[in-house]
Formats: sequence, C-alpha cells, structure tokens
Amino acid sequence: IYGRVVRTRTPEKLETFLPHLGTWLDITIYSTDGEHFTAVFENITKRKETEARIRYLNRVYAMLSEINALTVRSREQSELFRETCRIAVETGDFRMAMIAVSEKATGQLRLAASMGKDDALIARIESVLTSEDKARVTMVMRSMSEQRAMVANDSVNDPNVVFSEMYAEAGVRSLAVLPLIVESKPVGVIGLYSGEAEFFHQEEMQLLTDLAGDISFAIDHIEKQERLVYLAYYDELTSLANRNLFLDRFEQLIHAARRKEGRVAILLIDIERFKNVNDSLGRATGDLLLKKIAEWLVTQIRDESLLARVDGDHFAIMVPEVRQDGNLPKLLNKMSDALLAHKFKLNNVTLRISAKAGIAMFPDDGGDAEVLYRNAEAALKRAKETGARYLFHTKAMTEFVAHKLEMENRLRYAVDHQEFVLHYQPKVHLENRSVVGAEALIRWNDPQSGLVAPGQFIPVLEETGLIYEVGRWALRQAIADYLRWRALGFDGIRIAVNVSPLQLRDQAFVEGVRHILSVDPNAAQGLELELTESMVMEDLDRSIASLKSIRNLGVRVAIDDFGTGFSSLGYLSRLPVDTLKIDRSFIIDMTDSPEGLALVSTVINLAHGLNLTVVAEGVETEEQQRLLRLLKCDEMQGFLFSKPLPSDIFEEKYLKT
Ligand code: C2E
Ligand code: CA
Ligand code: CA
Repeated sequence: IYGRVVRTRTPEKLETFLPHLGTWLDITIYSTDGEHFTAVFENITKRKETEARIRYLNRVYAMLSEINALTVRSREQSELFRETCRIAVETGDFRMAMIAVSEKATGQLRLAASMGKDDALIARIESVLTSEDKARVTMVMRSMSEQRAMVANDSVNDPNVVFSEMYAEAGVRSLAVLPLIVESKPVGVIGLYSGEAEFFHQEEMQLLTDLAGDISFAIDHIEKQERLVYLAYYDELTSLANRNLFLDRFEQLIHAARRKEGRVAILLIDIERFKNVNDSLGRATGDLLLKKIAEWLVTQIRDESLLARVDGDHFAIMVPEVRQDGNLPKLLNKMSDALLAHKFKLNNVTLRISAKAGIAMFPDDGGDAEVLYRNAEAALKRAKETGARYLFHTKAMTEFVAHKLEMENRLRYAVDHQEFVLHYQPKVHLENRSVVGAEALIRWNDPQSGLVAPGQFIPVLEETGLIYEVGRWALRQAIADYLRWRALGFDGIRIAVNVSPLQLRDQAFVEGVRHILSVDPNAAQGLELELTESMVMEDLDRSIASLKSIRNLGVRVAIDDFGTGFSSLGYLSRLPVDTLKIDRSFIIDMTDSPEGLALVSTVINLAHGLNLTVVAEGVETEEQQRLLRLLKCDEMQGFLFSKPLPSDIFEEKYLKT
C-alpha cells in the first residue's frame, strides 16, 4: 500500500476538514513538542498502480512504434525477427524476447531469434521445441494451436511455465506468448518476458496483440516479396531459371569469354510433339513431362545454373567453353542419343521423346545474350523446317564443324602415311640425377603446319576411333626404340607410353599389348604404361583385372596425373600399380602454400607405404627439385631437366657416354 501525507491540521480544525475527506484513510494524530496536529494520509496504491501501468504502456507504445517502422523497411525475415527482439529488450525494457517460427516442411517450431536469453536457456528451449511430446504442453505450442495469447503474470509460481526456475533466476516475473498468424494459420509465436510481475494486463495485451498482427503482416509481406522475386527469375514448374535469369547469366558468361578470348554457345531446345502429349494425355501429364525433362537435363549438364526453361516446351543451355576439339558437336550428339534412349516415366505411361536444337555462338553469331538468343531461335526454326537434329546459326559454325571433319580426314591420312613421331622426355633419379627412363609423347608431323601437340588431335583420334590404331603404333614404336637402345647397351631404362581411356576399355587391349611384346623376349621389361587416375576409377573392378594381366606380362603400370581425379587416396592400395606420377599442378602448388607442400608430402609417404615409385611431373624450378628431394620423392620429369626430345637427340644426349 502506498500513501502520502495530504494535509496537516491542528486538531481543532479537523472537524472542518473531515467532511471533505471522502476516500481518505488513516487519520493519525501526532504530537510533537507538546503541540498537536493531525495528518491525513491518502491511500494512493491504486494511483501508483495506474502510474506503473502508464509507464508500462508507454514502453510498449514506444516499442510498438519502433517495430512498426521496422516492419515497413525489413526485407528479410531474419532481420525482422532479430530486430524485433532487440527493440523489445532495448526499448520495451523486457528482460527477454524471442520469436519461434514453424518450419514449413516439417511443421516443427524453430527458435528464429532471441534476445536476453543465455545460451543454456536457448539450448533448453530448442530441445523442448524439437521434442514432440514435450513441445505439446508448452505455452508456445498451446498459443500456436489454440491461436490465442497465453499469459503468466506470476511466472515464478505458474505451473504452465516450463522453465520457471531458469526464468526466475534471470529476473523474469511475468511472461506472455502471442501467436503470429498469417492468412488465418499460425506460423509462429513471439514471447515477451517482463521483470515485473503482473505486467500483462488488458491494455498491454491489446497493444501486444496489435504488435503480433503487425509482425505477422510483415512476415506475409516479405514472403510474398520473395516469391515475386523468385517468380521473376525462376520457372515455377521446373524450378529451373527462367528466360530473364538465363539471359543475365549468359551475359556474364559472355563477358568472361570476351576477356579470355574464348568461345561460348547457347543451345535452344524444342521438345518434339510436346503438343500431342498435352492434347492426348492432359495438361497435368504434360507438366509432369516438362518437370522430368528438366530433371533429365540437370543430370546431363550437371550444373543447373547453365540451364533454363525459357517458355512452354523450350529449354536453353549455355555451354561455357567451346573448344577446337569439337566438344560442342560431341555434347550435341551425346545428348540427343541419350535423350532418344531415355524412357520418361509419367504416372502410368512411359514416353520416349526427341528434340531439336538451334545453336548460336559467341563471338561468331553475336556480341550479347539477346542477339545470340534470337539467333539460336532462328537456327532452331530452320532445324525444325529442315528436319536436322540440330543446326548452328551461321556458316562460321557449320564451318567449324566442317573444320573438324577435315581434321578427321587429315588424321586418317596421317595414320596411313605414318606422320606421327614419338618424342622422349627423360625421367631422372632425384638423388643422383641419372636417367632412369623416358616418357614417350606423341606428336603429329603435319605437312601443313609442322609439329602438332597431342592436345590438339588426341581428342579427335578418340572421337573417330583412330586412337586404337595410333595407340598400337605408339606402343610398337616405343618398343622398337627401346630394343635399339638396349642393343646399344642401355638396358637400364624403361619407356612409358600413354594409354587412352578408350584403349583400356577395349576388351582386346591386353591381348594387343601381348602381341606387340612378342617381337622380343626383352621387350616387356622396357615398357611401362601410363593410365590416368580417372580412367582407372571409371570401372574399378574391371580396371583392376586389366592392370593385373598387364603386370603379368612383365609390364609396369603407372598412375598418371595423380591427384586430378575424383578419387581419394584410400583406394590406391587396391590398385595393382608400380608407379605414381604426381600431377604438375600439385608440384606448382607445393611452393605456393604450406598446404600444397603437405599434400605432396602425404602423397609421397602414402605411396611409399604401398611400395610405389613416385615421379613428380612438370618440375620446372630448382626450388621444386630441392623440396622433392627433401620429401624423398624418387624421380622427376620436367623442363628443369629436359623437354621432350626427338628420339635421335634423346639418344645422343642421354644414352651415349
Ligand atoms: P601427360 O601424360 O601428362 O604428359 C606430360 C605433358 O607435360 C607433356 O605434354 C609434356 O610435354 C608436358 N611437360 C613435361 N614437363 C613439363 C614441364 O616442366 N612444364 C610443363 N608446362 N609441361 C611439361 P604433351 O607432350 O603436350 O602431352 C600432352 C598429353 O597428351 C599427355 O599428358 C598425354 O596425356 C597425352 N599424350 C601424349 N602422348 C600420347 C600417346 O602416345 N597416347 C595417348 N593416348 N596420349 C598421349
Ligand atoms: Ca603421361
Ligand atoms: Ca601426366
């Protein structure tokens, strides 16, 4: 009870005053220094309470207006939640505040933001929210499911309050939980914790309900905004990018290609007879087919950001790198074959579909995304008219494809007329720098343009199947050179020959090697085959079997470009191989960072643990050599010691004493 002195009077004047007292209470008569006077006290408990209420209300008002301003400017839900809690504590003077929202997918509540709660309390709350049976009885859950505010005005003693003790310790005396309701569905709650008991009365609750309404409105607004942004850039049916986003991305790709002087392409794909599907099986099935096609495209292209559904039954693909080796026609053929072979299962029908494509290339067919898109459309239109599976926009491209054809013809000629030569790059022992072997690297002695590096023509050989014949030639040539050097007295070296993945996959490969080796009983000990990690990994069990039979012939096996495949070090122990060649990129990284060095060191140690000889590829500097020596790498190969050399020069330099 609060009181204050209202009046003091001398007793004789009291009578005149008493009739006016009304609700006044407690008249006490004091006597000081023999003089009498009367004091009248007023019980102002009610007024004090009213004042406190006004203070509370003012706080809540202030908080409400700040949060209102926030709901208008918030662009993200996380920001809205975080700031709401902050304002509740800082302006509203609440001890704590929290917002929990229900996860769309699971319906489970998740703590979205909180302020003033310590980690232990947060952890406890989170664990209760995620445990189904415990969550059900909480005020939070009840507020959600009953869609009404829950109040505990004496939280310390209220049995409904789950963490009353922890709250009491943190100075909380009363609390309220209000539901956040969007489109008449509860989507979450806001909890407010006051240091005063009996804080939440009608007026406060009225304001706080308004507040919850404003937050709900903002949640809804932000969601709609996000949805709009999504719809502006994505195709709702397939979740692929739409035309807008695709063109944006394509423009970026073009920008990058311009800097690198590279080529990029856009493919527009039209699904044939899609209208029939829609007409005969219904729109829903048509939609499902489009979805499945989108999924299939993702599996083909792997990178979703290169794909779009641009409208109806039209899809678009951008190709980030178009190379001279014909990767684009290869991709087109591969995809149209794969599409024809694929069965699309839709509810209870299975469909096969085919498609047509129009292609435009940067820079040949245009300088920006819009122009290229239009040109690809024109090419697609012509493809539909002419019946071609795909058409390029311009002659330039058709020429590009033709160039490849011509290259094929010239390579066929090269095979028949033995225009290939082997160069040899020495492998040296790191300790004593003696030449212990050589890698045979093929070159094409093109009468038109001179020596051509393998990167330029091996892909074409592989595509045309000529690689088998050229591969056999390389083996025969390497063995002939070895036997000649051996006859000269140099039997201490081995020649490594590169094998293409196609060759290894060929059933007859091992038999072919055996046949080539049969020219001389000593041939096998002069040969090593280099296979890349990724080709071995492709079909591990079969590779292991092939590798075993190769080694049974007395031929050694090396894993080439080690580290560039996707494999882990772990599988190495299963492989029947003799040598590991660490890829040049790792040798470069070795001097760039401690991690790079550690990686090479790990590989060397692991390989030694498996009794493998380790060769470092592409060693170009003294520093690399020094480090490799320290790391106990066995051999090195690279420009530091020697470039690949024609066989006579190799012989002259390294095999004559
Ligand atoms: P690879 O097997 O990794 O061969 C090593 C490549 O690195 C060679 O390029 C070689 O000249 C180069 N090189 C060696 N030391 C250094 C160095 O210190 N610095 C730099 N920057 N490069 C170095 P090349 O001769 O152009 O061969 C390229 C690829 O062609 C080979 O890579 C191999 O995969 C393939 N290849 C070569 N000959 C044949 C062959 O007869 N058959 C098959 N299937 N592929 C071959
Ligand atoms: Ca190699
Ligand atoms: Ca290599």
